[in-house]
Amino acid sequence: MLKEIIEKVELFFEEGKKEIEGIKDSELLEKWRIKFLGRKSYLNQIFSKISSLTKEEKVICGKKLNEIKQNLIELYERAKFQIEKKEIKYNLFLPGVKVKTGNLHPITKIIDEIVQIFYRMGFAIAEGPEIETDYYNFTALNTPEEHPARDIWDTFYIEKEKNILLRTHTSPVQIRIMEKYTPPLKIIAPGKCFRRDAFDTSHSPMFHQIEGLMVDKDIKFTHLKGVLSYFIYEFFKKEVKIVFAPSYFPFTEPSAEVSISCVICEEKGCSTCGNTGFLEILGCGMVHPNVFKNVGYDPKIYTGFAFGMGVERLAMLKYQIDDIRYFYYNDLRFLEQF
Ligand SMILES: [Zn+2]
Repeated sequence: MLKEIIEKVELFFEEGKKEIEGIKDSELLEKWRIKFLGRKSYLNQIFSKISSLTKEEKVICGKKLNEIKQNLIELYERAKFQIEKKEIKYNLFLPGVKVKTGNLHPITKIIDEIVQIFYRMGFAIAEGPEIETDYYNFTALNTPEEHPARDIWDTFYIEKEKNILLRTHTSPVQIRIMEKYTPPLKIIAPGKCFRRDAFDTSHSPMFHQIEGLMVDKDIKFTHLKGVLSYFIYEFFKKEVKIVFAPSYFPFTEPSAEVSISCVICEEKGCSTCGNTGFLEILGCGMVHPNVFKNVGYDPKIYTGFAFGMGVERLAMLKYQIDDIRYFYYNDLRFLEQF
């Protein structure tokens, strides 16, 4: 009895194997499936017959039947895969293969966003060279020889003898624009800057700044406050407290550092704001009379303000990123989020 069942089942498998070879479309394959694996298939009928066998025979037979069933399933899956592959090829209604498109780098996006805010206030966009001379980077900006910012350790010199360097800030653009144009002027100048800094969570030897400059008759500190307050509100899209604290820059007088109430903890104190509840976001001030003299403007007629902000820092605050290096690793998993 056992031998007979096994022989029959093996024949059944051979039959299935032979039949499936000729099948080329999914309709016929489905018929095959019903015949060989369906509920009413020969195989299932045999399963119900094994009750008449002895206990030991039952074990052997059950094992054999399951083995055959597995083999039939495998035949079916393989044929199904091949047929579907072929049918998909000719199905014109399936969606096409998506071409991966790139997107703007988060830093580029933030620059665009900031520039747009100032553009709406009537600022023009200006650019200057990344390779500068000592004169534009320091001297014209009222930075005397002995100023610590001129220290060779902070600046990448290209040719020290010829005083050619990589600009350490975007402020030289102020000088280049003022030499070329007469007031009134309102400019915003985004660009790359370079400093001999370590590459760590908050520093990078290459980073981006946005410089602003407004010069006209009768420009006052209140204009500076108004412009920056509007910018901060537009950029963070929420009400934040703004604090102007006295500071020092060689090219502005008076100078101020602008802090805002922490956008992450809302003044409760967190690691980003060093538990102070406030974040420094930019430096600014009224243009120093010496700077005006250097470009041939009469400081008795003209006044103006200038400011500079770090783009990476603003991007990190806006998107709550805790490591500046993410911007430069070129990891798509990071970049695709913006
Ligand atoms: Zn905080």
